[in-house]
Amino acid sequence: MSHDFSNGHLLIGGQWRAGKGAPITSIFAAEGTENQTFNGASREDVEEAIAAAKAAQPAWGALKPHERASYLYRISEGISANIDRIAWVQSRDTSKTLAETRALAASAAATFRYFAAVLETSDELLTVPRGDYTTLSVHEPLGVVAAITPWNSPIASDAQKVAPALAAGNAVLLKPASWSPLVCLELARIIDEAGLPKGLFSVLPGSGREVGNLLVEHPDIAKVSFTGGTSTGKHLARIAADKLMPVSLELGGKSPTIVFEDCDEDLAIAGILFGIFSSSGQSCIAGSRLFVQRSIYDRFVDRLVTATKALKVGHPFDADTQVSSLVHADHRASVEGYVAMALEDGGRVLCGGKRPEGLDAGAFYEPTIIADVANTDRICREEVFGPVLVVMPFDDEADVIAMGNDNEYGLACGIWSRDHVKCQRIARAIKAGTVWINTYKQFSISTPFGGDGASGIGREKGRAGLRAYQSQKSIYEDMSGRPHPWARWP
Ligand code: NAP
Repeated sequence: MSHDFSNGHLLIGGQWRAGKGAPITSIFAAEGTENQTFNGASREDVEEAIAAAKAAQPAWGALKPHERASYLYRISEGISANIDRIAWVQSRDTSKTLAETRALAASAAATFRYFAAVLETSDELLTVPRGDYTTLSVHEPLGVVAAITPWNSPIASDAQKVAPALAAGNAVLLKPASWSPLVCLELARIIDEAGLPKGLFSVLPGSGREVGNLLVEHPDIAKVSFTGGTSTGKHLARIAADKLMPVSLELGGKSPTIVFEDCDEDLAIAGILFGIFSSSGQSCIAGSRLFVQRSIYDRFVDRLVTATKALKVGHPFDADTQVSSLVHADHRASVEGYVAMALEDGGRVLCGGKRPEGLDAGAFYEPTIIADVANTDRICREEVFGPVLVVMPFDDEADVIAMGNDNEYGLACGIWSRDHVKCQRIARAIKAGTVWINTYKQFSISTPFGGDGASGIGREKGRAGLRAYQSQKSIYEDMSGRPHPWARWP
């Protein structure tokens, strides 16, 4: 499959033109080649985009919900009609398999469709009065929203922010990650072709420290919705605190997967492999800490290692590839650093732990399982964001709940057992925004998603996802026609 890249122009304030900022180079890490170099956004571009967004937003916010929804439906259709191209661009940009990038593009289309439907069907509240008045609780747009996204599933993260923010009546400025700058240009083209009023949506690729920071600090930005690493999220939250600006933070994870002796082992092995090694482990919700009950530990881990060794590592455009290249050679170096650290701390590699043979040009790394680690080791505490699983035994429920929760993150958890009551008990006891029971990494746009602790603040998706981009106003209207009895005058 072959397509061309766009001309690298940015959509800034309703105009397609070259950015005036520093050059950005997109790499095809699976082959170690360059995709494209183009100019990112400059300070001047950011200012221009913000000014256009401010000018365009009031009219957009004043449209009836069904009128705004009609644009989102068109965007959804535009994405659906371009899935092959979007998937190709994103696979070249991130080295993800085409199967995955097609699924991400389809999910982005579904996200726009969903939030159009939510918008059209969201009622406002007439609240119960305690006097002779009526009270309305209504929702209004915030104004100009900045969306800052990471490289690991760009079109899906972009859609999860842009769709509800536009639906809610805001203007949106999207800053993608510098390692995946291309697919947002495709999204911008589709949004523009859907006829969205000029200026409402701009794409501003550029470095996080410059373009990202500018957006967060800017007085005209009413909210930042961020997905990315925890240290970046904390930095943005500090700036936001100073401005008293709302932020949504979708951050990292170190999610526990818990395997009880009474599980269906085939189901568990398949789910664990998918949970950690799909997307080459570059997933915030990767099930990266595996706890296996001691009574089945040796046998289960042996089976898991055998299954891991059978995974097909290969080129992202090969249909049978399960584990593709990492996004960038620098990222592989970071993953390798973590594995080396685990070995220094006494860890033992059961499989992987090295680059695969015969794929030397790309940033590939073998699916890796490390045992003999302690839950307090850095490899068990920090997010590796690569195909690396640590495995530890546990004795009983209390033991595994304590170990699962002994981590600053709280994003996701997997539980494998045939005892449904026990699964529900553990699900409630574990600190996590999402818990999967006898499955892993399943998503529905209707179901809220987000993290606790160092995994973030706020929730995306679901009907309430729209509310994250609105402010709430209460309106009281007197129905008595009588002056307030407190105020007396002659
Ligand atoms: P990152 O380094 O934090 O970058 C995320 C985004 O923030 C990028 O667009 C980046 O731009 C920008 N940025 C960096 N510094 C900034 C600053 N000072 N001000 C404003 N923006 C700034 O994260 P990443 O490496 O791209 O992504 C991986 C992380 O994302 C992992 O920790 C993963 O767990 C997390 N993630 C979380 C979720 C979730 O929903 N919870 C989903 C996906 C990923 P540059 O690329 O130009 O630096």
